[in-house]
Formats: sequence, structure tokens, C-alpha cells
Amino acid sequence: MAEATRQDGARNDAAAREGTVIRAGAGHCQVVVGDETWRCRVRGRLKQGPRQVQTVVVAGDRVLVRPVAGNASPGAGGEAVVEEVLPRRNRLSRLAARRSGGRVEQVLMANLDLVVVVQSVRDPEPQTGFVDRLLAAALRFGVDGVVVVNKLDLCDAEGRARELERWHWYRRLGNAVIAASATTGEGLAELGTLLGGRVALLLGASGVGKSSLLNALYPGLDLRVNAVTGRTGLGRHTTTHTELHPVPGGGFIADSPGLRGFDPWDIAPAGIGAYFPDLEAESARCRFRGCLHRDEPDCGVKDAVARGALPAWRWEGYLALLRDLEDRRKATGYRS
Ligand code: GDP
Ligand code: ZN
Repeated sequence: MAEATRQDGARNDAAAREGTVIRAGAGHCQVVVGDETWRCRVRGRLKQGPRQVQTVVVAGDRVLVRPVAGNASPGAGGEAVVEEVLPRRNRLSRLAARRSGGRVEQVLMANLDLVVVVQSVRDPEPQTGFVDRLLAAALRFGVDGVVVVNKLDLCDAEGRARELERWHWYRRLGNAVIAASATTGEGLAELGTLLGGRVALLLGASGVGKSSLLNALYPGLDLRVNAVTGRTGLGRHTTTHTELHPVPGGGFIADSPGLRGFDPWDIAPAGIGAYFPDLEAESARCRFRGCLHRDEPDCGVKDAVARGALPAWRWEGYLALLRDLEDRRKATGYRS
């Protein structure tokens, strides 16, 4: 480290600056430094091998960058180099795509305050399993989770009451739940208050209304939430390209358009219960310690579902995650 600094000092007198990565791709990233956006190369020594590259520098990272000597200023088309990634306060990670083999952590974003999971009441149909997994991961990584239920204008009064009863379950887990409609403007003020001055990652299937909500909330921001190929082409070699957008009044909003499915990183199958606090509360009455609430007799969780004290969909969401995490372990020969 000391030697690298001395070499850099000999070649390059420009001072290192601290900035925030707003977009990261293979070997390159964009960094907001003061009022400027710099295009930066990631130093070779920071890369740990092809599979890990996406994770070395991710959106949300705080980095030290230095303009390339003799080049135009990075704010005016020149290039800079990322010299150091500062320690992350937190991160949100999943197991990388199965085809990447092995057990590889894919960091979606670093240094975030909030994960906002957007669902629509229909078109497309909601997927509570996706919400369950993201909220479990948010708990695991120490990030607040928020659920936005959009397109409520498509429900009549009865349907609306049914939807909200279901979605409000997540409030018991400590998550905010916002009833919203980008069409009528319902919930926008509440969402704006939650996002204000914070760094948030917005996730949800294509079509749930993420861009509509954000464009209604921040007119003129021109978010293209569904844009899969970026303007810069930086995303070509990545499987997911999280991009941060500065929002008026401070803070950033990020989106991860390529996200399909989500197996949280670093949650052991037998440890999932800790991230499903409502199930965990019922497990006190399981006959067996370490009950996985699957086939075991005298299971407090199954009892609670039978009594109607715990929604079946929560149990099913838990079982689906348990099965997926076990499959991933088998596929990689991992012994727990
Ligand atoms: P994204 O893929 O999550 O960014 O979703 P979009 O914002 O592109 O919205 C997908 C479609 O849903 C568009 O046709 C929107 O007009 C529509 N839409 C978005 N929000 C609402 C809403 O609150 N109510 C209704 N009825 N339609 C909506
Ligand atoms: Zn049990």
C-alpha cells in the first residue's frame, strides 16, 4: 500500500478525491465527485479475479479516485482511477446466478439506508415470495425494508380492504407498508418522506410501476427504471447493473433492473428462521429444537397456520426459500 502510494505520487500530483459510485461495470465505474460525474477505471490490483470483479466496486461504494496524469479533467471527458474502496457500512447481497458456479457473493449495492420492494395488486400479479426474501436479506444486512403496494386504483373497496389486510402483515415485522397508486397519487407523499435524504434501493418486477412512482414523485428526474442497456454501455458484462440517481433534497434512489429471483447471501438454510420473525415467534412451541417447520411432528409454526394465526403464504414463502437455499448448497457440494 505504501509503495503504491509512493509510485502514484511520482507519476501523478493530482490529489485523491472521495466520491460515491453511482454505476459499476466490468473494470469501470462512474463516480460522483462534488458536482461532477467522473468516469473511472478500477485499478488492476483491486480486482480479485473475473468472477469477483462485479463485487469489488459496486453502486453505493465510497471510493478514493485520482485523475489520470496528463489527461483532460475527469469532469470534462478525461478519466480517473479508483485507488481505494473505503470500508462498507453495509451491503445487500445475493448468491450469484447458478451458472457462475460455486458459491459467489453478488453485492447489489453498498452503503444503503433502505430497500423499497414495490409490488402491484395486479398486472403483474404480486409475488409475496420475492418480498419475503428481500425483507429477510434486508434484516440480515441491517437495512430497513419498506413495501410499496401500487396500483390500488385498480381495486374496488372490497378488494382494496383484502389487499391491505394481507400486505399490512409486514408491519408486524417492523417494515413500513405504503398503499400507493402512481395514477391517483396515493402514497406518494409518504414515500417521498421515507426516501428524503436517504440512500434507497428500489426493487420489484418489471411493470409494477417503479418508474411511474418515481417520475410522479420527482418530476424532471427522467428515471428510466427499465433501461437494461445503459447509455454508457458500462453494464454490458454485468448481470445486474444497479444505478444510483441523486434526488432533489439530498439522497439517492437506485434501481436494479436486471433482478430476477433472489437467494439471499450468507443465510444458512437452518438459520432462515431468524429472518422470519413471525415464524420464529411460533417456533417456541415446536417439539424439536432446530425444527425446520417442514415435516416434523408437533410443529408450532404449522399449528399456527392451521389456527389461522400465521398466514399460509408466509409459511410457503419460508419453505420455498428453505428449499432453494438447500438446493444451492447441494449443487455446490457444500456441507453445513
Ligand atoms: P416499472 O417497470 O416497474 O418501472 O413499471 P412502469 O412504471 O413502467 O409501469 C408499468 C405500467 O403500469 C405502465 O403502463 C403504467 O402506466 C402502469 N402503472 C404504473 N403505476 C400504476 C398505477 O398506480 N395504477 C395503474 N392503473 N397503472 C399503473
Ligand atoms: Zn416447527
